[in-house]
Amino acid sequence: MSQTVGKAVCPYCGVGCVVGAEVQENRILRLFAPKTDAPNFGMLCPKGAYLKKVFVPERRLAWPMIRRRRGEPPEPVSWTEAIGTIAERLHRIRREHGSEGIAFYGSGQLDTEAAYLFTKFMKGAVRSNHMDTNSRLCMSSAVAAYVKAFGADGPPPCYEDIEHAEVFLIIGANMASNHPVLFQRIRKRRLRAPNVRIIVVDPRRTETARFADVHIPVAPGGDAALLLLISKRLAAAGRVDLRFVQRHTEGYSGYLNYLESLDEKELLRACEVNPARVEEAVELLLEPARLLSFYCQGINQSTSGVEKNLALINLHLMLGEIGKPGAGPFSLTGQPNAMGGREVGYLSHQLPGYRYVWDPSHREEMEALWGIPRGSIAPQPGLSAVPMFRALAEGRIRALWVAATNPAVSFPDANAAQEALRRAELVIVQDCYYPTETAEFADVLLPAAQWGEKTGTMTDSERRVVRSQQFLQPPGEAKPDWWIVAQVARAMGFSGFEHRSAEEVWDEFRTITRGRPCDMSGMTNERLAVESLQWPCPHPRHRGTARLYTRGRFPTPTGRARFHLVHVRLPAEVPDPEYPLTLTTGRIPAQWHTRTRTGNVPELNAQAPYPFVQVHPETAQLFGMREREWVYLVSRRGRTLVRVEITDAVPPGVLFSPFHWGETFHPETNLNRLTHTALDPISEQPELKHCAVRVEPIST
Ligand code: SF4
Repeated sequence: MSQTVGKAVCPYCGVGCVVGAEVQENRILRLFAPKTDAPNFGMLCPKGAYLKKVFVPERRLAWPMIRRRRGEPPEPVSWTEAIGTIAERLHRIRREHGSEGIAFYGSGQLDTEAAYLFTKFMKGAVRSNHMDTNSRLCMSSAVAAYVKAFGADGPPPCYEDIEHAEVFLIIGANMASNHPVLFQRIRKRRLRAPNVRIIVVDPRRTETARFADVHIPVAPGGDAALLLLISKRLAAAGRVDLRFVQRHTEGYSGYLNYLESLDEKELLRACEVNPARVEEAVELLLEPARLLSFYCQGINQSTSGVEKNLALINLHLMLGEIGKPGAGPFSLTGQPNAMGGREVGYLSHQLPGYRYVWDPSHREEMEALWGIPRGSIAPQPGLSAVPMFRALAEGRIRALWVAATNPAVSFPDANAAQEALRRAELVIVQDCYYPTETAEFADVLLPAAQWGEKTGTMTDSERRVVRSQQFLQPPGEAKPDWWIVAQVARAMGFSGFEHRSAEEVWDEFRTITRGRPCDMSGMTNERLAVESLQWPCPHPRHRGTARLYTRGRFPTPTGRARFHLVHVRLPAEVPDPEYPLTLTTGRIPAQWHTRTRTGNVPELNAQAPYPFVQVHPETAQLFGMREREWVYLVSRRGRTLVRVEITDAVPPGVLFSPFHWGETFHPETNLNRLTHTALDPISEQPELKHCAVRVEPIST
């Protein structure tokens, strides 16, 4: 029997590791990490290494299914019937309720081809901007801050900057756990260059924090106050790159005045940090050194997420630490193609190529490129994720198409999200796996090909575009996501969806990015078949761009980066006598999102078998909690079962629990039943990192 070898991007975190597979008779014999392939150069974490185990036939959604009546099991149908049913029902809803009666909720798991065609379908064909994805819950605050400060989205640095950085500032990111291969590079950098220093800002003493020279256990939500305090001290000490600030930025004098007006004691109170830790961090930053910051949901999932991002960007601008090797503010993405989704414009205010629905010239450009009549694209941003689900619950949105995600578990205030799905007139769920918690609400289920079963393109956190190959046949009738949306569009009578391959979709999309900040027009299919490239890459001989803003020119009207004033705000829900504890949520290394994939891998389940809550010994004593005891965590919105883990890695009064386990694990587990839907006013990202809870024994 002949063996074949294929490569595909790991479907988990935003590091975007390339995984190789030796295949025979549609079975993976061996997985490996190709040593010469960026970005991982031979490294994989356990999740990537166990990918072979995710192919569990009985857990796959392998045939289209229709649920004839709510409460009854769905039954397998042909693609013709499934697509015909969707086309007919979407047409009817559009006739009766207008285009805005239809919404789409997707994910950073979709490859660029699928995310692009869904965007074209919703915004160009259906003409509804009610399109959003779980990237809204993950890093939309980082996107908004990049746009405000630099004029365009996109992390300026690249992974190679790890090899040049002299000081790392890791804030709101547990990289050792959630971006492990990247963190391995930081470990190696430190081994090779012992003078390198690492500052970690995190309420918890995580594995990342244990590796730090300075760990600042900031109060949950206190990051902006801490960053302002550090910036104020540095400015007072004259540690400002005035040449860079004067030539390449605007708004510094106002920011400096603002910093000087802030009261240090109040800032210290707001971040609840030992002044000695702040002093240590300031000491490390006083001498000019290449500063590379990594950050993730810890500062994004907040009602002041954009301001926290801007505080960090202000610090980099003030120090001139951007646009050169080893420097810059680097927002990590949580998912493998969250960047690609941003590039195709899959959030409710975006259009492809970093264009925006509110900009008339952008709408006109896209209408011309898509060959649709002028005025087709609605000028108002659609509803973002949380308001979209509210509109679904209230009947203003009638149909929701969910693809490659599981909002019944991952959405804040999950009880309310599930109620919205229950009330919807039509729920379409497109996924690789079945059952899932969201699939329980589906009227139509569409089987998607998964990792290794399709050709597709993804962009990792460093703007590197990588082509994944197909080396397995999908089970049953499962199809690539792009094919599914194209068939529905054609069945609805829309033109512009006649693509015969992922390569044809890619060719259309890359040309649309020509001249835009994320220009990928030089990334032909032929090139992507043999190499990965970082954008911008504006012509077929261009070698790609490792880092942005190297000449100090930013895509703002003045060409300068902008300082913004940053305010210190309390989280939306703080502890009170009824709910006296702060819950912060997150991820662990052995599980992924809602476990639809990792839940099938025995080795990963053995490492993390149960939902748990970390509790400080003082808190445990105060509330009578015992090690390994099962308890309910209760908030104003619901309750969930967790097992107690007593540790001083969390501060007194703060609980940490991961959100991975939903009702398929146990009917009473779903951490997001506790979280709330308060939003950042700019990014509309919900504050998943912070809510008030109490603990109840399971006997009540
Ligand atoms: S670091 Fe991320 S991308 Fe790399 S193997 Fe692990 S989960 Fe996959």
